Amino acid sequence: MDEVALFYNHYMTDPAEAPRLDFIRDIVAADQAAGTNRGRVATRFPPEPNGYLHIGHAKSICLNFGVADDFGGVCNLRFDDTNPVTEDTEYVDSIQEDVRWLGFDWQDRLFYASDYFERLYACAIQLLRDGKAYVDSLSADDIREYRGTLREPGRDSPFRDRAVAENLDLFAKMRAGEVPDGAHVLRAKIDMASPNINMRDPVLYRVRRAHHHRTGDAWCLYPMYDYAHPLSDAFEAITHSLCTLEFEEHRPLYDWLIANVTDLPARPRQIEFARLNLTYTVMSKRKLNQLVTEKHVHGWDDPRMPTISGLRRRGFTPEAIRRFCDEIGVAKRENQIDVGLLEFCVREDLNARAPRAMAVLRPLKVVLENYPEGQVETFEVANHPSDASMGTRQVPFGRELFIERDDFLEDPPKKFFRMAPGREVRLRGAYLITCREVIKNNDGDVVELRCTYDPPTRGGDAPDGRKVKATLHWVSAAHAADAEVRLYDRLFTEETPGASQTDFLSQINPRALEVLTGCKLEPSLADAAAGARYQFERLGYFCADRDSSAARPVYNRTVTLRDSWGTKQRMPA
Ligand code: ATP
Ligand code: MG
Repeated sequence: MDEVALFYNHYMTDPAEAPRLDFIRDIVAADQAAGTNRGRVATRFPPEPNGYLHIGHAKSICLNFGVADDFGGVCNLRFDDTNPVTEDTEYVDSIQEDVRWLGFDWQDRLFYASDYFERLYACAIQLLRDGKAYVDSLSADDIREYRGTLREPGRDSPFRDRAVAENLDLFAKMRAGEVPDGAHVLRAKIDMASPNINMRDPVLYRVRRAHHHRTGDAWCLYPMYDYAHPLSDAFEAITHSLCTLEFEEHRPLYDWLIANVTDLPARPRQIEFARLNLTYTVMSKRKLNQLVTEKHVHGWDDPRMPTISGLRRRGFTPEAIRRFCDEIGVAKRENQIDVGLLEFCVREDLNARAPRAMAVLRPLKVVLENYPEGQVETFEVANHPSDASMGTRQVPFGRELFIERDDFLEDPPKKFFRMAPGREVRLRGAYLITCREVIKNNDGDVVELRCTYDPPTRGGDAPDGRKVKATLHWVSAAHAADAEVRLYDRLFTEETPGASQTDFLSQINPRALEVLTGCKLEPSLADAAAGARYQFERLGYFCADRDSSAARPVYNRTVTLRDSWGTKQRMPA
């Protein structure tokens, strides 16, 4: 086991074990035992379609769908699309694709907050009738000013005691587009002196002439998230509304709305948990958006991105991501998870499932002087060292081969056991070969090794039992497919990008992508379907990219075989 494996081993559990309990499942179990909601459990995953989903969302998805599953309940997918300015159908589509890919099914329960606009409007009318809301005509600046601070209470707006009839009339005009943007807002009438600023008559509606990705121009009156969210939960009869910690301070408003809007079909309960933070990763949608729009990466699905689509393209599996979410669990306190744990989960999963193959990334030519010209042999090689069900494949071998440039040193230090002048090494599954001569070009670069092979060692073992320390991977030159291989590494050089007022963009790892052309693949890798994953022997896990074509296969490195980050030279500041 490598170091990371050892490090994490103490808290890895058998994924087949019963799901562990956490404080949220404890609450749900207690509610169910007490017969709350008649034992029914309903959760929802509520993304705002203003960006692609990332690994943090995966935590929320696994939690919401997982809790529903554990308690015989359901989980809805609901787009919280109340802000027309930032939302787009591109995001709606990608979010559905990603949730499905992660392995979750909302069946026919796909909802949009925007489908509730009419109903939300009716709830506002009721609040107005009950004297629990009012139309405020203060400017945005004045509203802020009247709101007070953490130390000072707010002051009542001069419009707070408008008559119900006038409120209803103005609110109707707001909807009808008869008032300019920003002229009035609808506010809840709660308590301007509340110690919780969210309870100081929060804004529920504003007028905004903006085109909505679903409702088009039907509305110019849009509900605020804090208003739409609890009511949407109630409309869908959600029982447990799981959200991240920053909404803790909003819970009194959530509860106020559930208590003061009448005729709701359910009384959902909000429970907050700590969001996922990962080392060497940014997770804010604003920052991810900036990386894309300013072209620091090649798009939302760039394999350097922590988006689900990026991780997918990089070769991560849904199983590995779900396992990771299982391992980190849910807690009430903010923390930061080592991205090494995510990589560890991917490595573990691919180790079990990815077929092995040989590829040479930085080729060095080897000519076997005593191997007959034109002769070709094929070796039957197992696709997996311990899983026979994955079968075997035929790998061709000939007089000219490629090995990895790194596997040869003309003047090797003591601990270097691979190829060197005069030394014998094993070509995996093929023969023992010995380096006889080193050919250089005019610049003194090694361009070719002249070697001999030992025919009785066919299959890779010496009949006399002599010891050969190194086993190298190789590809037959005559049969090799030329490929491009993209080596990915962490996108940031700092553990917490952008921490303490630093600019996260200045901490982008310039080595996060290294493109190697002229790589040599064994023939079986030449026309793999996009998304096919392999372990390239001795190199790491790789995934065929969708840019692949028969003319030019492209592979992305998913993860290295071992955690090499700690030992790698960092870039100077
Ligand atoms: P924004 O910054 O735009 O509000 P968001 O990250 O909150 O973005 P949403 O689309 O509102 O994105 O998130 C959908 C759900 O995913 C919410 O319930 C949110 O709490 C949850 N979520 C978002 N980021 C994380 C994270 N890092 N860890 C766990 N859950 C998250
Ligand atoms: Mg949000």
